[in-house]
Amino acid sequence: MNSGWVSTLLSWYHSNKRSMPWRDNPIPYYVWISEMMLQQTQVATVIPYFNRFIDRFPTVEKLAEADLQDVLKCWEGLGYYSRARNLHKAAKCVVEDHQSWLPSSYEDLQTLPGIGPYCAAAITSIAYQNPVPVVDGNVFRVFTRFWGIFDDIRLPKVRKVLFEKLSVYIKDVCPSDFNQAIMECGALVCTPKNPSCEECPLACDCFAKSAHKQVELPVKLKAPPTPHHTIVVGLIKHGDKVLIAKRKETQMLGGLWEFPGGKVEKGEALEEALSREIQEEVRLTVSVGDKIGVIKHAYSHFKISMHAFWCEVESGLENLVLSKSLKWVKVSDFSDYPFPKANQKLFDCLSFSSQKMSTK
Ligand code: SF4
Repeated sequence: MNSGWVSTLLSWYHSNKRSMPWRDNPIPYYVWISEMMLQQTQVATVIPYFNRFIDRFPTVEKLAEADLQDVLKCWEGLGYYSRARNLHKAAKCVVEDHQSWLPSSYEDLQTLPGIGPYCAAAITSIAYQNPVPVVDGNVFRVFTRFWGIFDDIRLPKVRKVLFEKLSVYIKDVCPSDFNQAIMECGALVCTPKNPSCEECPLACDCFAKSAHKQVELPVKLKAPPTPHHTIVVGLIKHGDKVLIAKRKETQMLGGLWEFPGGKVEKGEALEEALSREIQEEVRLTVSVGDKIGVIKHAYSHFKISMHAFWCEVESGLENLVLSKSLKWVKVSDFSDYPFPKANQKLFDCLSFSSQKMSTK
């Protein structure tokens, strides 16, 4: 079924689409990498990461044979590191099980680690021209407004309704352009606040515009408050080096490096919690020294305040077993290791504090 709004939307897209490296050259590998990077992240942020990643891992074979640490290092700062770990795992599957060809169907793509319905729809439509509609945040916003859907968009039935309705329209047009036109309209025109209805290609048939309901749609009921944790970490000094530890692959932020520490228990002083955590984690007894700073950071499901301190070893060095996941490194060599975003923020405080380290 073709419809007036589809033609108007596609003409608008052809005149207004932004240039993006994966859009200008939509080979399956590029589309896949870009879609993994674009989850929860803006296009402008992704472009330099994408270009660096493709320079470093130009083909799926290069990605499959890379060390996970190198992949994480290239991803450092983009957040949601499980995406990078899954990408690496999936690259190995593509090389080993699919003769280095990324599967093309919506169903087969979803057998790969890290590729869910949204990502599979984007890849199969953009790289292979299969008529599967993408239903992401932009689509929820544009089409609950356009069709006047007042159900809470967290409900699975809303995704199902949008998928079914859009499936009817995508069949008769270029699937890649159809999905990208909707995403582009959501990003540039039908924005969360102050949508530019006067410039919108969907304006003529839009429910929200005619009923003045743009502010009320989409309906998203309030989520429970995000939990907050107080964390302490210690930069334990030994000569001119500091102890860093690698997180287990199975943990959140797995494979990244951090400083020993952990959560502060109820009623515990920060220094007390830090000594306890370091003792439990690496069996060192330390004296907690100067505070380096407090870093606030938000993850998808919780927030942290991370208090960082310099620490001196008092005893236990003989118990410390250095391994692939525990190393003494110079502050100037931190950049050789992938660290989570909260630690990256800490490094800014460190440039002052490390001067203190060298004078102590
Ligand atoms: S007319 Fe306004 S509310 Fe409707 S889709 Fe366009 S920008 Fe969104």
